[in-house]
Amino acid sequence: MQSHLCNRCGSCVGLSGGKIQFTDKTGKYVPKIIDKIDDALADVLWQACSGKLFNFPEYQRDIFAESPHFHSFIGAYHRIGIGFAKDQEIRSKGASGGIITAVLCWLLDKKMIDGAVVLGMDQNQPWLTQAFIATTREHIIEAAQSKYIISSNNDILQEIAEFKGKLAYVGLPGQVQSIRKLQKINHPSVQNIKYIFGPFYGNTLHFSSIKSFLKTYKADTYENITKLYFRYGEWPGNMRVELKSGRVIELKKFHANYLIPFHILRNSLYCTDFTNEFTDLSGGDAWAPVYEERGKGFSMIISRSKIGDEILSQMMADGIINFSQIDENEAIDMHSHGYDLKKRGSFIRIKFRKYLGKSIPDYGYEIKDFPFSRYFMELIISMMFIVLSTQLARWIIEQFSPKFVGNLFERTRTLWKKSTHKIKRNQL
Ligand SMILES: Cc1cc2nc3c(=O)[nH]c(=O)nc-3n(C[C@H](O)[C@H](O)[C@H](O)COP(=O)(O)OP(=O)(O)OC[C@H]3O[C@@H](n4cnc5c(N)ncnc54)[C@H](O)[C@@H]3O)c2cc1C
Repeated sequence: MQSHLCNRCGSCVGLSGGKIQFTDKTGKYVPKIIDKIDDALADVLWQACSGKLFNFPEYQRDIFAESPHFHSFIGAYHRIGIGFAKDQEIRSKGASGGIITAVLCWLLDKKMIDGAVVLGMDQNQPWLTQAFIATTREHIIEAAQSKYIISSNNDILQEIAEFKGKLAYVGLPGQVQSIRKLQKINHPSVQNIKYIFGPFYGNTLHFSSIKSFLKTYKADTYENITKLYFRYGEWPGNMRVELKSGRVIELKKFHANYLIPFHILRNSLYCTDFTNEFTDLSGGDAWAPVYEERGKGFSMIISRSKIGDEILSQMMADGIINFSQIDENEAIDMHSHGYDLKKRGSFIRIKFRKYLGKSIPDYGYEIKDFPFSRYFMELIISMMFIVLSTQLARWIIEQFSPKFVGNLFERTRTLWKKSTHKIKRNQL
């Protein structure tokens, strides 16, 4: 809980009956023990924690025995494709193609679920994320779009347990892995969860990113935020902040990415699950010029379990989504940067942690033997993350206009991607 291995899934908070809480959501957002934990509870919390231990091969065997394909980067799957929700409202309000929201709405409509665990913004503190159970189409749509600050969906596990009816659950890889661990021990808190979905996951940011963003714009304090969006408007969308004063600040998503190296949650760098491998169905952005040029919103969709694939087929038959199948090489090519980050970078960074004598996660598998150049590149990246996350570096960047920094960041990133293209793709 006190190390970089905590992915903030929130399970320990949700299972503790108030004995563990997140007390500093605008700070480090770490779970804090408020009251004494007895041995029985400690044991359950340990079994639910996905930060230190989650055995990928074991869960792959348990959950996806019937899935016909497996790739060590992608996980088990039935089909991979590019698609979008045909409902215009859902597509435009979704992060990319609105697929996850469309699936939830369809399941609700078909009465296959009574509610969906989704992530919205807090009603009273609209600058913070808050998981909730959506029981109407309107509320599911309200929770669409990616939130790039820390979320702890499993902190509502008690509410999930007490819900009367069947649930779909949406979460990031660490959150999903913890739900899978609880399912494995037949824990009552997850008995209502029938379907699991989730977005791909590159990284997420500390709340300091919002504070810094506002400072750069010489704007009010975050307590005056009335609405906060990370993917507002047409795909790929804008980061948008609405303030009590009526002021609205918007910055292109790709430019807002400049915040990443300054505010990244360090745990993102030790996570090796890019495509949310333990969901029934997962979705990411279809990052390719052919789709990006068209705007509107395109997702990459991976159906993993038998039930996930059946949902996909039935939704296509009902004319709810558009889906064109692609092969795994095309999929890997489209996200080569993400796979490199998670399936090579993360393992190297974990190794660095080990050399430094720090605790490391155990995922039950390891990908190794990369070329020396890749290790060297990782050393530079890791040092860059350390330097840029210091107060001084953050202060310096806050002195420049975000448009300028964003532009510079986008150009530098393109240049960096081009110059490291060979190293990264080598044997990918
Ligand atoms: C933190 C984060 C990092 C990501 N990184 C990448 C990446 O590197 N590459 C890539 O291709 N795609 C990434 N994605 C996924 C991408 O942004 C879209 O979520 C994905 O394309 C699905 O789009 P959609 O339109 O189908 O989702 P939508 O229909 O918009 O539904 C999204 C669902 O995810 C839930 N959700 C949103 N944010 C969170 C969160 N922080 N924690 C838990 N649940 C959440 C919402 O409640 C909603 O139900 C990331 C998403 C997140 C949240």
